[in-house]
Amino acid sequence: MISYKTDLIFDLPQTGGNRTYFDHERLSSNIEGWYDKALLREEKLDFPDLSEIQVVRHYTNLSTKNFGVENGPYPLGSCTMKYNPKVNEDIVANPAFARLHPLQPDETVQGTLKMLHLHEQQLCAITGMDAFTFQPAAGAHGELTGVMLIAAYHRDRHDDKRQVMLVPDSAHGTNPASAAMAGFVVREVKSTAAGTVDMEDLKSKLGDDVAGMMLTNPNTMGRFETDIKEICDLVHEAGGLMYYDGANFNAILLHVRPGDMGFDCVHLNVHKTFSTPHGGGGPGAGPVGCKDFLACYLPKPVLQEKDGVYSWDYDRPKSIGRMRSYNGSTAVLLRSCAYILAMGAEGLYDASEAAVANANYIFTKVKDHFDHPEGKPMHEFIIAGTRQKDEYGVSTLDMAKGLIENGVHPPTVYFPLIVHEAMMVEPTDTETREGLDQLVEAFINVAEEAKENPEKLLEAPHNTPVRRPDEVKAAKELDLKA
Ligand SMILES: *Cc1c(COP(=O)(O)O)cnc(C)c1O
Repeated sequence: MISYKTDLIFDLPQTGGNRTYFDHERLSSNIEGWYDKALLREEKLDFPDLSEIQVVRHYTNLSTKNFGVENGPYPLGSCTMKYNPKVNEDIVANPAFARLHPLQPDETVQGTLKMLHLHEQQLCAITGMDAFTFQPAAGAHGELTGVMLIAAYHRDRHDDKRQVMLVPDSAHGTNPASAAMAGFVVREVKSTAAGTVDMEDLKSKLGDDVAGMMLTNPNTMGRFETDIKEICDLVHEAGGLMYYDGANFNAILLHVRPGDMGFDCVHLNVHKTFSTPHGGGGPGAGPVGCKDFLACYLPKPVLQEKDGVYSWDYDRPKSIGRMRSYNGSTAVLLRSCAYILAMGAEGLYDASEAAVANANYIFTKVKDHFDHPEGKPMHEFIIAGTRQKDEYGVSTLDMAKGLIENGVHPPTVYFPLIVHEAMMVEPTDTETREGLDQLVEAFINVAEEAKENPEKLLEAPHNTPVRRPDEVKAAKELDLKA
């Protein structure tokens, strides 16, 4: 059993360093004359005075406090928490990649540039786009980059009326936020009862002020937009462009490409689809791809290849400029490149088949215990806690807390916003049969507990160091000592 009590490193007994190893004074006398004494710091650093083993134990203990995919099932809908293969960690640890500086001259980093060039070709082939930038540091940053390409396109054509970005009411919050940040006015498009774009509502929202539409497919209801061709045609006829939010791409890998559906630009969340670690806010990667006609606006510099020599091209007069320092999170992109190489087309196809099968396996077994939208889900599904709330006073939040005590991570809750008391479940392709069964059992347990012992759920979780934080306060006023 894990002890949840963790001392701050500052509160550990200050043992003054390990005297048998790295003794400061002995070390100084041993290397006497090897360094310029004038460079020595005069004051002692204000660091805890600990031995190496104390530090290692401290951080090793801390590393066990979090729940991750390596602890148990983590079905966080929309986030695609798939397992990160360890071989990719070996590859990025190779000093030929790991020991580079981003400011090294191009001719000294040809291997890394070649890898990025290969990765660009992979992503173009998988998405049906013509070019990619690797600068964006996450999906949301990719969205901002993508809608800025759309803005640049209209500006370049002197089509200044186009100030509106269409966003479905089921969209991830980052979509309207990115559009607003890029200066667009957000116009919401309604969803049907089945959770797909309401075509009549879409038609009524189109006009010569529309710059484009942001859409994810399958959407955040886990439904494939079967009208996607018509949606793209309508927006294009109105003079707008189509932006693909790639967060749900895992469901359709190698089955259908956003470029063929009619999208003009896309972002990919490599930490979702291509198994790179989710980065607690970064550093991550959200590559953005586009069709040829938008490529001149991509952030600069752009990677180019001439006669087998790779270099960065800064001569891009129409570029929207830099979106971040240097050239993207190369160590993250190396992992996604390696993942795609290892999986191959067949492996990626199978991954999306497994992602959809796994979600449907759980859905079929738990659906009678909860309310849920009609229809067949893809890689993720939604169940709603409305019945439990109305009949027993137990909310989705209470059930999510109860799931923690069943040894699994709760799913995404209260999203999408258009489903009351929503729980959005995405087991991903890498979950085991045992893990899927554990999830089924956990969901059925909390549904039964809601009926039979609601008080227990209202108090859950009982065994965690922090039980029910004020989520806004916890995010805004971090207290790491609690
Ligand atoms: C995760 C997600 C995003 C944002 O991506 P980040 O990489 O977390 O910034 C956007 N849209 C959808 C649908 C998502 O699930």
